[in-house]
Amino acid sequence: MEEIIIIGAGMSGLGCARHLYKNKKKFKIITEDIGGRVRTSPDGEVNYGAYYITADCKNVLPYAEITGKMRFSHSHLHKGNEHYHVFSPRLLKHIPAGLRLIKDLIIFRRHLLKLRRRSIEFSREELIEADPLLKKYYHQKAGKYIKKRGLEKLNKEYLEEFLWASFFIDPRKVSTALFLGSLQPLLVSSYTFKMKFNEMIKGFENSIFYDSIIKIKSEGNHFTLKTKSGRSYNCKKLVLATPMKITNKLIKPQKIKGEINVYYYHLRGEIKKTYDKKWYNFFSIKEATAISCERDGTYLYFYNGKDKIKKYFKKYEVITHDTWKPAFYFIGDEYVKLNPEKNIFLATDHDVPGMEDAYINGMHTAKLVLNSMRN
Ligand SMILES: Cc1cc2nc3c(=O)[nH]c(=O)nc-3n(C[C@H](O)[C@H](O)[C@H](O)COP(=O)(O)OP(=O)(O)OC[C@H]3O[C@@H](n4cnc5c(N)ncnc54)[C@H](O)[C@@H]3O)c2cc1C
Repeated sequence: MEEIIIIGAGMSGLGCARHLYKNKKKFKIITEDIGGRVRTSPDGEVNYGAYYITADCKNVLPYAEITGKMRFSHSHLHKGNEHYHVFSPRLLKHIPAGLRLIKDLIIFRRHLLKLRRRSIEFSREELIEADPLLKKYYHQKAGKYIKKRGLEKLNKEYLEEFLWASFFIDPRKVSTALFLGSLQPLLVSSYTFKMKFNEMIKGFENSIFYDSIIKIKSEGNHFTLKTKSGRSYNCKKLVLATPMKITNKLIKPQKIKGEINVYYYHLRGEIKKTYDKKWYNFFSIKEATAISCERDGTYLYFYNGKDKIKKYFKKYEVITHDTWKPAFYFIGDEYVKLNPEKNIFLATDHDVPGMEDAYINGMHTAKLVLNSMRN
């Protein structure tokens, strides 16, 4: 009988594991992989999921090898037949709106950093609901905020292109908190990276078992877990660090935010002249596309709707073609219960997404587990 089992070794599960390890607790991790939505190409060179890390990711940054700096000057935008560089003269007319946005971003950032500092101790829900600005922005649609602050034109010509590439839907549909959170790279440096998973699991690497949990049964004072390979595990405390869609299949389902799927290609080839050979190509929401040229000369092409690979590439050879299903849960403002049943705990990126926040949420869940062991 295990004292604690963690299902899943994405950022949430690993944050939880690191905190339990620091507190000298024994646990087992059962997972399909290490990294989850931080996934790289088979040669480890290209990130298919989490793509960039910001300089303020204090918990995750020590495990990341920085491979390059993300520069806005490397962006090309495409809107129907219009193709423009990010620093083209058309940017000038947006300066007043841009300054209003920057002011709001700075204020929002102060609240966000305070929330992160306190997030190991308290749940996101408690912290957001106790902060009037965060509460307002968490429950308000970005569309309303954009209108109120007169950012419609700036959004149409610039922001929606960048943000589609961040979360793959019309930014007006997400919360203001997510809208402003995703624009933080305007204030803080962001980098491409390779995650050093060997260092992330150092110390508890022998506690990791690769399998897929297919059933969880509560048996009075313990849980029995059945795996795809036919194994069975027992534990007293159970942490589900799985995406909420999976969590909802394994235990009593909770109401969750709507999911966003995205398709992607990793390919080698020749991009058409209209598009930039190097760096980043951002498109209108209607086109629902983002294309980046990677350091090794290969391309990542993300899209929703129709596969238009032939529109963008003259020649190509597919390295990988896959779907994130889902990539995120961003539509709506539901909070999930982190301790929904006795001795069941959730570690998740559901309430505030991103690697750093998922990792911190995992540490908070570990704290809930530790508290329950003291009681
Ligand atoms: C395309 C894309 C781009 C992104 N870009 C960024 C970015 O630039 N910057 C950023 O900070 N964040 C980004 N993110 C978000 C970030 O990747 C996630 O918020 C974070 O990695 C989520 O971690 P998690 O541990 O909560 O979930 P996941 O990473 O999904 O981990 C879940 C874990 O559960 C395991 N699992 C699932 N089912 C089972 C089962 N039945 N049995 C056992 N194990 C199971 C999986 O193997 C995995 O290890 C991006 C995400 C995507 C998809």
